[in-house]
Amino acid sequence: MYVGIDVGGTAIKAGVVDEKGNIISRGSVDSRPDSGAETVRLMYVAMTHALDRGMISRGDITAVGIGSTGLCDNRRGTVIYSPNIAYDNTPVREYFMERIDARIDVGNDANCAAVGEYFASGESRGSFVFVTLGTGVGGGIIIDNKLLRGVNGGAGELGHTTLFPGGRRCGCGREGCWEAYASVTGLIRDAEERGGWFAARQKIDGRTPFEGAAAGIPEAVEVRDNWIRNVAIGVNNLVNIFQPDRLVIGGAISREGDTLISPIREFVSKNAYTRGVSGIRQTEISAARLGNDAGIVGAAFLHKIQ
Ligand SMILES: [Zn+2]
Repeated sequence: MYVGIDVGGTAIKAGVVDEKGNIISRGSVDSRPDSGAETVRLMYVAMTHALDRGMISRGDITAVGIGSTGLCDNRRGTVIYSPNIAYDNTPVREYFMERIDARIDVGNDANCAAVGEYFASGESRGSFVFVTLGTGVGGGIIIDNKLLRGVNGGAGELGHTTLFPGGRRCGCGREGCWEAYASVTGLIRDAEERGGWFAARQKIDGRTPFEGAAAGIPEAVEVRDNWIRNVAIGVNNLVNIFQPDRLVIGGAISREGDTLISPIREFVSKNAYTRGVSGIRQTEISAARLGNDAGIVGAAFLHKIQ
């Protein structure tokens, strides 16, 4: 059995995961954004809770994977830096290895979600791209069973690619990033800027444009379709760069299912450079399957990926 730990800005969630990717027991603690060292101790506490709750002994655990926000260096087993938690080349592997006899891996949280979805989406081979649409836009790239980590472990920051030069200011400080448009934050901003029907809403979240569009509200249809188009342009770029076997779209908004995925597939079928070529395989585009558990399962399965 394995342990997967998902470290976010507000909570640290741990799960004991079996070979098939089922979460057998869980533990959770609040995270400590002001201290990297204390965060590592709390990761261990969350793991201990999950083990105790499932009455599982440390000796049954062969691998522990830690997925955290930020830049993770799996060669050295450290988290280098995160905008959300005060890591400073914090030694995660060393802390765990002193306390449990298991293989320890660390990886970026979006990369871990990619690993989880990679194993959940069937054949664990070929090339795979995962895009998560949430507060930001992140993802992960797996090629022939290898996670593309890049220099400093920072690969897969798909959101910080430019969609509109000189456009909206992104959280990274640049202008016009894909993330500033294709994130749920971007969708909410689209709705707020559009006004009209949206101005009369008490609260706008990522579902609002989808619900309004389903009810036939013209402003909502316009905002939803324009946002999906911005998502699709970036997805099409990824399809052209990587020509993956599979591309999976995650984040809570992927629960919109075909309403979101079908127009993206249609856009890519008209815009991928392989469009119109008959008799060749095209990238299979689908919605994520694991939801909120992708981070835990993916962290637990990090050791299966080189
Ligand atoms: Zn950016």
